[in-house]
Amino acid sequence: MIECNKCKAQINLKVKEERIPGTELDAQYIQCEECKKKYIVLLKDGKTKAMLLRAKNMQARYRRMHGRKNVAEVEAYRKHMENYQRTIQRYQLQLRNNNKNLIKDYL
Ligand SMILES: [Zn+2]
Repeated sequence: MIECNKCKAQINLKVKEERIPGTELDAQYIQCEECKKKYIVLLKDGKTKAMLLRAKNMQARYRRMHGRKNVAEVEAYRKHMENYQRTIQRYQLQLRNNNKNLIKDYL
């Protein structure tokens, strides 16, 4: 469980999503039920959505590779997937940084 920084209550980890008004950005967040403080989980723009879809497709492909491709090939693909996850994480940090003032209610 996570404790709310503001009121110290335990936060329900159910992730909700909403559009940030006046933008093309969607915020995934968890919310303290006591004081209603929101905490960002993921900030999504069009590029993030495309990247997440690609990552999901890569995982499906990786699962299909098992038992069919040789071990080295499967391992190389796993590394490729991990690199892509890091690319997504870097982009997430950049996106949050570029929209600091828009997400201040979620931090
Ligand atoms: Zn709270």
